[in-house]
Amino acid sequence: MYRLDEFMADLERKNPAEPEFIQAAREVVESIIDVVNDNPAYVHAKILERITEPDRVYSFKVEWEDDNGDVQVNRGYRVQFNNALGPYKGGLRFHASVTLGSLKFLGFEQTFKNSLTTLPLGGGKGGSDFNPRGKSDNEILRFCRSFMTELQKYIGPNTDVPAGDIGVGAREIGYLYGQYKRLQAENTGVLTGKGRSWGGSLIRPEATGFGSMYFAEEMVKAHGDTFEGKRVAISGFGNVAWGAAMKASMLGAKVVTISGPDGYILDEEGVNTPEKWAYMVALRNSNNDVVAPYAKRFNAKFIPNRKPWEVKVDMAFPCAIQNELNLDDAKTLVANGVKYVVETSNMGCTADAVTFILNQKIPFGPGKAANAGGVAVSGLEMSQNAMKLSWSEEEVDAKLHTIMKSIHSSCIEHGTESDGYINYVRGANIAGFKKVADAMLDLGY
Ligand code: GLU
Repeated sequence: MYRLDEFMADLERKNPAEPEFIQAAREVVESIIDVVNDNPAYVHAKILERITEPDRVYSFKVEWEDDNGDVQVNRGYRVQFNNALGPYKGGLRFHASVTLGSLKFLGFEQTFKNSLTTLPLGGGKGGSDFNPRGKSDNEILRFCRSFMTELQKYIGPNTDVPAGDIGVGAREIGYLYGQYKRLQAENTGVLTGKGRSWGGSLIRPEATGFGSMYFAEEMVKAHGDTFEGKRVAISGFGNVAWGAAMKASMLGAKVVTISGPDGYILDEEGVNTPEKWAYMVALRNSNNDVVAPYAKRFNAKFIPNRKPWEVKVDMAFPCAIQNELNLDDAKTLVANGVKYVVETSNMGCTADAVTFILNQKIPFGPGKAANAGGVAVSGLEMSQNAMKLSWSEEEVDAKLHTIMKSIHSSCIEHGTESDGYINYVRGANIAGFKKVADAMLDLGY
């Protein structure tokens, strides 16, 4: 029998100074501990110890030259968390906040997220503390080359398939893949998020944002409600926020905010035209990491140094980074009558914010369910690469839609409480866990 406090104390002892990993692990373990204790096979197999320990972690030095001719040194990582269900799969994050602990949290989350997609994907994550802000295109190219020179030793189309995440978009995937091909002399699906003409999948760029809106649409329907006319707050303005703003508008909602590290935009007209969406992408690609210019360009309001959660909305979608929505933000949202909160970033809400929202019985979509559309379409990209063909936009979008609906059904199946409240956190954790744990039992140790 496992006891939560004992298990978590031991995990903290083994992983000191990794608060994000401990936060992610605690949330999952809290949800699944009864399921584990009710199944002697899980207890006997030490499933909790094994599922919270990454299979392996690579840490490496990345040396590159900046535009001044100075040598720079960063640290690169690849965390191969769990491959019970398939090759390790998960993005690469280039961001100043990257540490081994943050990548362990992301690799751990990815394992359960990938399990929820219904596709044969294990979980991994990687990245670097390289900060793309203010870097030139050539500096990014040189960094990517050096990073891949080391990473290519550990990945492969049937072993570990990285993709994008914060700070890694189509440009970086191109530079990384270019270097992989130079070194390995082969065209394979070793990365996803590739460009359309060199092995990429249609809909992959939009997939995380689209998927989170498909998931939210199912949540809304399950509560006898509709998307039409909902006021929506989104944070971020990059790879994910862009697709989210687009699909929310297509579904009839009005997105009134986007944000950056410098503050947020309040656009009462709605972030709802192809021009505005294209501008978000251009802003992100400028490497300045500020959202303020949007206000000038589209005659919207810019509120410096604040977060969008103070705006009165029906639905809130954190789309930027972990722990970006805290307890105070959650209280403000609830006081303003928010009806749904859907994490589109990984672990976008702090643990106390999640507990507060759940206690208010407000439907809350956790990241590992709501944002699984990105990796799901990555899985579809791998299938297309393996078959050496490409599916149409309609085919990929239809498959993404089906996957998001199925994730929602899994949450209902495992998360519906006796009073009828759907606890999506518990539902997603149990559904994601069971598949991985059962595969681990089948595979032995
Ligand atoms: N970085 C994304 C995520 O957090 C996508 C990963 C992938 O496509 O492999 O799920």
